[in-house]
Amino acid sequence: MIQIDSPRQFIAGRWRAGRGDSELLVTDPATGERVAGGPAAGDADIDDALAAAEAGFAVWRERTVVQRAAVLRRAAGLLRERSETIAVALTREQGKPLAEARREIEQAADTIEWHADEGRRAYGRVIPSRWPGTRFTTELRPVGPAAAITPWNFPVMLPAIKVSAALAAGCSVILKPADETPLAVGGLLQALHDAGVPDGAVQMLVGSAPRISARLLEAPLIRKLSFTGSTAVGRLLAEQAGRQLKPITLELGGHAPVIVAEDADPERAAAVLAGIKFRNAGQICANPSRFYVHRSIAGRFAAAMVRAAESLRVGHGLEPGTTMGPLALPRRLAAVQSLVDDAVACGAHLLTGGARIGEVGCFFAPTVLADVPTEARVMREEPFGPLVPIRPFDTLDEALEQANGLSVGLAAFGFTTSLHTARRLSEELRAGSVALNCVTLMQPETPFGGVGDSGFGRENGSEGLAGYLETRTVATDA
Ligand code: NAP
Repeated sequence: MIQIDSPRQFIAGRWRAGRGDSELLVTDPATGERVAGGPAAGDADIDDALAAAEAGFAVWRERTVVQRAAVLRRAAGLLRERSETIAVALTREQGKPLAEARREIEQAADTIEWHADEGRRAYGRVIPSRWPGTRFTTELRPVGPAAAITPWNFPVMLPAIKVSAALAAGCSVILKPADETPLAVGGLLQALHDAGVPDGAVQMLVGSAPRISARLLEAPLIRKLSFTGSTAVGRLLAEQAGRQLKPITLELGGHAPVIVAEDADPERAAAVLAGIKFRNAGQICANPSRFYVHRSIAGRFAAAMVRAAESLRVGHGLEPGTTMGPLALPRRLAAVQSLVDDAVACGAHLLTGGARIGEVGCFFAPTVLADVPTEARVMREEPFGPLVPIRPFDTLDEALEQANGLSVGLAAFGFTTSLHTARRLSEELRAGSVALNCVTLMQPETPFGGVGDSGFGRENGSEGLAGYLETRTVATDA
């Protein structure tokens, strides 16, 4: 049975209620109604999970890569078979339209399969020796039990990336999902368990994030932390991990610039960008979120973006025909509203949207703002909502300077028909990923991660697996 009706702990291969002293509450962001609740994890749960992670690691690391790959592939298959049930839970706790929830689960399954196969390609090397008779080789070994902490915007896919990379490398892993979205991820854990991941090799603790992360990081057993979330929390965790000298991967916030050059087709660029901008109600870390458009086409671009925004059908994610759901959390409504109000106060022109829709649920209208001044907060702070702030530019140098003007650098986008401009954008935009004339940045095969305050380390691709492996050099004199 899939345990996705209430938040539970998954420890040593079993679901159980938390033993902590606080309660978790999951609400439907479209209605504000309670979906589920239950006790949070307490220290006893964390300690049990740590003990089980040690036992699980001892068993799982001894499986051959072929056996591990077979288990992970089976898990991906189970996830697909159970997709509909898990997708409904995901939409209820997070708000995204059901079609997006289904796509997220499909992407999670694809990612698990990628890591299953990539684990089989974790080759060592034979290194030419300076000394006759001595042979040097390297082998890649699992780094040890890992901890993974994930946010609420992709409640199944982000855990799937971390957990399947760790397992493919031979590590055991303890996941701490966002406590606002602890339900659908249960379907992922169950699929892994049913597919044959041994008890203790994959576990989940739901509860107070600072308490769980501190206890996990203090435990000598945990040898790796992978975190996706805000830059502020990432900084905190890096300090804690640094004190213990534990390797860490940080996938943090961004504020992705888009440069639409003078020679680009503004209607096409707006249509392509709108296709990703409003997905998940704009709550995607690598989402285009600052739009620098050449002055000669800025009006046409803005008009096309307004048409795209106004054609969206905002509603409950489970209602057929909904193309944009609510923001995932009530606190996000005030944050997004204050960015819009500030931009307008700074002189931006509100072309559409700009406010909450209705009194019930966390619905915010798809919003387009034109002539946004640089000093407006929305040009500096990640909006994580359905906002399109547009700023005209005159020269490419000026656009690049503004695009590169923040300390974050997760993703960046460019639209142009000029080879020369495309080359400049790909070389000079400062970000972990750059997309030109398209918006597809992530797939399991390609590494993803940030520069600067967007973090370090990469997920997906062969780099993602490498984050859970350590290199051992062996010298043999035969
Ligand atoms: P957040 O506050 O940093 O929360 C993310 C995760 O960290 C949650 O599991 C949260 O748990 C936990 N957490 C919160 N405070 C903590 C603490 N003191 N110690 C340890 N863990 C703690 O981030 P958010 O605002 O919810 O999520 C949105 C952010 O994530 C955005 O900035 C976005 O750009 C970023 N993001 C980045 C990527 C990427 O791949 N680079 C992908 C998605 C999102 P609780 O929920 O239980 O508090």
